Amino acid sequence: MTIYYCPVDGTRSATTALTWCCPVCRGPWDLDFTPARGGGMNALSPRIDSLWRYKDFLPLDSSTISLGEGRTPLVPLTDTVSAKLDYLMPTLSFKDRGAVMLAELARRLGPDRVVADSTGNAGTSVAAYCARAGLPCTVYVPEGTSPKKTEQIQAHGARLVAVPGGREATALAARAAA
Ligand SMILES: [Zn+2]
Repeated sequence: MTIYYCPVDGTRSATTALTWCCPVCRGPWDLDFTPARGGGMNALSPRIDSLWRYKDFLPLDSSTISLGEGRTPLVPLTDTVSAKLDYLMPTLSFKDRGAVMLAELARRLGPDRVVADSTGNAGTSVAAYCARAGLPCTVYVPEGTSPKKTEQIQAHGARLVAVPGGREATALAARAAA
C-alpha cells in the first residue's frame, strides 16, 4: 500500500493509519511512491484512452471508480500556445485528476466518511468520485459559494456545510470535522 510522506520534515505513515496530516508539523501529506518503469511512449499507444493510460507514473495503478477522466483534447491556438480542454472532464474541471486518486485510496481504506473543503470545483469533484466509490462525503464551502457549485456538490449526494467567513475559516471547520 502507498505510504504517506511529509515533504517538510520527512515523517512517514502508513495510509491505513488514517492520519489526515503530518503529526509533527500538521502539514498535508504527499504520497510517497516511486513510479514504475514503463515501456516508454510506445507502450502507451494500445492502452485505455484516459488518465489510467499513465498508470506507471501514478501513485495508484488502477481504479474501479474511474469516470473516464483525463486525455482531454489539446488544441493548438498559436505556434507556442495550446489549450487543454479540461472542461470536458467528468465534473467539468481538472480537479477530477486528483479526486479519482483521493476517492480510490479512500475506497481502499474504508473510512466512515470523506471530508473535504473547497470553494467549488474540488468539492464537486470529490463529491462525484465519492458517490462513485459509495463513500459518504461532506464538503465544507465558504458561505457565498456560487449556487451552481453548491447544487453540483449536492447533486452528487454529498452533505454540504456552508461556513461563515472565507476560505481559511472553511479549512479550519473541515479540519475540526476530520
Ligand atoms: Zn511534517
